[in-house]
Amino acid sequence: MRQRVRKTVLLISFLLFPVIIWYFSPYLIIQGASEHIMNGSFIVFMLMLVLSMFFGRVWCGYLCPAGGLQECLFAGNPNPAKQGWRNRIKYVIWTVWIIAIIATFIMGKNDLTINPFYMTDHGISITEIHNYIMYYGVLMLLVLPALIHGRRATCHYICWMAPFMVIGSSLGRLLHLPQLHIEADKDACIACGKCNKSCPMGLDVKKMVSEEKTSKCTECIQCGACIDTCPKKVLKYKMTWKRS
Ligand code: SF4
Ligand code: SF4
Repeated sequence: MRQRVRKTVLLISFLLFPVIIWYFSPYLIIQGASEHIMNGSFIVFMLMLVLSMFFGRVWCGYLCPAGGLQECLFAGNPNPAKQGWRNRIKYVIWTVWIIAIIATFIMGKNDLTINPFYMTDHGISITEIHNYIMYYGVLMLLVLPALIHGRRATCHYICWMAPFMVIGSSLGRLLHLPQLHIEADKDACIACGKCNKSCPMGLDVKKMVSEEKTSKCTECIQCGACIDTCPKKVLKYKMTWKRS
């Protein structure tokens, strides 16, 4: 039931993508910085950072339109995406992007203002037909890694939003804040591997359980699919100070 609700919310989020896309734009934040405007994407990314201190990457698991799109592509390529060094590409992209934002802000002019609806039409992102060319370009960027490399490869490799949440959740852990995470009872695991098959991020959950690392995995999006699939109820959500 929980996974059905999760997938439905993700699908709705994806269907709303043309309306909300400018609130996740890595480009508009740079354009806003050049005019000293804190735009919608700046506000959304800061909210992601703060929320992830308490809820980890729950945004990715339950609300992200790009996540919804990629989960629709599982039929095209259901294989787990290769992990390792590829997962670090997103941090390189993110670092270059953050430097570009700061540099543009320093070189920019005007007094600092806040405009959450910057470059939207009464809050709606895409209202003109020619903007769909850009929209479908962005969709291709999100679709191709997942189709070529497998489950949610775009999240693993190139997502510019994921590092905010990885930083936020790491900071939350460092500060010992109560934070949503997955805990496992290692001794109850029968190593059936059903959790691996259900994980939309293609993670080796079984191995994480045996190594007691489920609560520390920065690629985990707290979707709960492994919890709902495990026949032995090994995994569960926790929001406590103590971690395994
Ligand atoms: S589904 Fe449960 S019992 Fe099976 S490997 Fe995963 S944690 Fe262990
Ligand atoms: S480990 Fe579990 S909660 Fe984390 S992404 Fe995979 S299925 Fe979702």
